Amino acid sequence: MSSQFIPSRLSIAMTIALSVSLTACNQAEKEQQNKTAENVAATTESKAEAATKSEKFSIQYNIFNKEDSAGNMQVQQDGNFVSAKLKMGWNNRRIETEETLEVNEQGFIVKQQIKGISAFGAPIDESYSYSDGLAVWKSLNESGQLESNGDEYYVPINGTGVSSSLLVKALAKDLDNKIDLIPAGTASLVKLDTVTLNNGKEDKKVHLLGIAGFGFTPNFAWYDDDYNFFATDGGGWFGVIPEGWGREHLEQLSEIQKRADNDYLKELAQKLTHTIEAPILIKNANYVDVETGNLIEGQNIVIDNGKISMIGTTLPKLANGKVINAQGKTLIPGLWDMHGHLQKSDGLLNIPAGVTNVRDMGNTHDNIIDIERMSEANEIMGGDVYRSGFMDRESPYAMKMGKTVDSLQSAKAAVDWYAEHGYPQIKTYSSMEPEWVKPLAEHIHSKGMKLSGHIPAFMTAEEAVRAGFDEIQHINMLFLNFMGKIDTRKRLRFTMVGEKAGELDLDSKEVEGFIQLLKEKGTVIDATLSVFKSLLQAKAGRINPEVADIYDHLPVTIARNFKTAILDIKDEERAAYNKSTEALGKMVKKLHDSGVQVVPGTDGIAGFTLHQELIDYAQAGISNADVLKLATIGSARVVGADKTNGSILEGKQADLVFVDGNPLEDMNALRKITVVIKGQNLYKPDEIYQAIGVKPFTKSIEIE
Ligand SMILES: [Zn+2]
Repeated sequence: MSSQFIPSRLSIAMTIALSVSLTACNQAEKEQQNKTAENVAATTESKAEAATKSEKFSIQYNIFNKEDSAGNMQVQQDGNFVSAKLKMGWNNRRIETEETLEVNEQGFIVKQQIKGISAFGAPIDESYSYSDGLAVWKSLNESGQLESNGDEYYVPINGTGVSSSLLVKALAKDLDNKIDLIPAGTASLVKLDTVTLNNGKEDKKVHLLGIAGFGFTPNFAWYDDDYNFFATDGGGWFGVIPEGWGREHLEQLSEIQKRADNDYLKELAQKLTHTIEAPILIKNANYVDVETGNLIEGQNIVIDNGKISMIGTTLPKLANGKVINAQGKTLIPGLWDMHGHLQKSDGLLNIPAGVTNVRDMGNTHDNIIDIERMSEANEIMGGDVYRSGFMDRESPYAMKMGKTVDSLQSAKAAVDWYAEHGYPQIKTYSSMEPEWVKPLAEHIHSKGMKLSGHIPAFMTAEEAVRAGFDEIQHINMLFLNFMGKIDTRKRLRFTMVGEKAGELDLDSKEVEGFIQLLKEKGTVIDATLSVFKSLLQAKAGRINPEVADIYDHLPVTIARNFKTAILDIKDEERAAYNKSTEALGKMVKKLHDSGVQVVPGTDGIAGFTLHQELIDYAQAGISNADVLKLATIGSARVVGADKTNGSILEGKQADLVFVDGNPLEDMNALRKITVVIKGQNLYKPDEIYQAIGVKPFTKSIEIE
């Protein structure tokens, strides 16, 4: 389902492109910035006022996915009035939003109206106004007001992105390049680089800006001399640039933008990774033997050269070692997220959550190769990465991120390409041709690779498994197996399950027969239960139950996105959706009890969602010991890494998570992680969370 389900990253990039203040900036840079800020402020003061008054233009931005067009945005400005129309689509997501704004002479917004349809179909109706010292905002998700001097910026939840340009103008004009945000937060701006582009008609000087205050990490984007938004392409799924400028210019800018992003993440990783060359002694350790589910108490564990060299009750004398007293904590093996769509910054969420192993279920080749290399080299924060090659068939609903194919031949060629590039698995998507599955599975298996994915539209999961699928992504596919051959390329694969999953008798002969087939075939189920529960439970104005535990820990600008509707669920449909939400958990429990291998994955916000996934499994009735086993040795076994990882054993990689509590008794204890060790690298979750604007859950324990 690809984590675009969380408010699409692109609109965030364009809307607010922000994150927690650029803490990593060193002192020298700060002084330099202040000097530039003064000059910027001085020159911009007069220029911007003049500009705003007289500015009249209309511009079309083109939005590209990795292959072709994903949509566009039309922006018009006439003096103090700005309007924007955003239209974009990918997979079965379609965004159509219109925004109108009025700014005052100082460049601050006094009127803002946003209307439209969000990616999964929920309506958008959001407004902001400022007059007589009062800022008032209202949307389907929230409403609020506060007294203001009018020098703050409202952060829309579903904006087109045009207001971020106006914010950047205001930030550039502001003396310390900082502006308070509504409802909360502070935005700040740093100028990072300048490039002059030429498109054969004109030279264009554009500036790479780092804008912080909106997300976990800063966002980078390009602005022109007047601080109008120009382009962005962080190497993810989408790139944006005005009409008249093409992919070649975007690629030119993207290289520099990626470098700036990398530099920022490298500096953070360096600051927050405590590499201990010497042996490490962990004393008074209670650890979970995930194979048996038992808690082994009062142990001493020695780590040397990144591996567990000794476990026992004797207290070894280490010549020049480091000592950690694990008294009162519970040690578990590093956790596995079996359904990531990694971005370089995700390590900052995964590692403090104890997620030290991620299987990526679809990415651009360059991005995942970079992440794998940079994580292994400790350049960026992140654990071990396992790749899968993404493939979809050309269609109006295709997800264009990996290989998009249009014939069985080209699909086999894509498999060959992925095999040559070291991918152990192929993940296919909803537009694939049912007839191709059998011959493609044979080709994939002939390469020693595995086939998994969404069940192709117009095919049942049973047919796909009989044709050679080794693994199925997403719990909804198992319910769709009993709902006829429908066009699951569309949002039907969500809404049909929302409406009807609750009606399926899980103890019926046909369901039990199907589960028996999965058992016999050894089919693995990558359930992503939590992300589906949050999809079916999302309601405008209500904190999504799947993030309720962490809501108050998140930066406001991120948390607000979890009080929105996602699908357009009518009130009269709620009862059916609630029943179906329950049924999803019951199916996972039934699969597990029937001996079908279930693997926990997020397809959502890194780190936090995996904890919720495991809490949901426990709430569905799977024992805590079994849940921990699924998220450690169970997952390691599925990717063939159980010889080196997945359990706490002498000789295995030091892949350890210290929990402040006992997850065998209470799975919620997983939220409170005090230390994470991966090889000889030690991480303190509280300091990592502070660096990305998240309120820590517990304090880290000291190294002696
Ligand atoms: Zn996915």
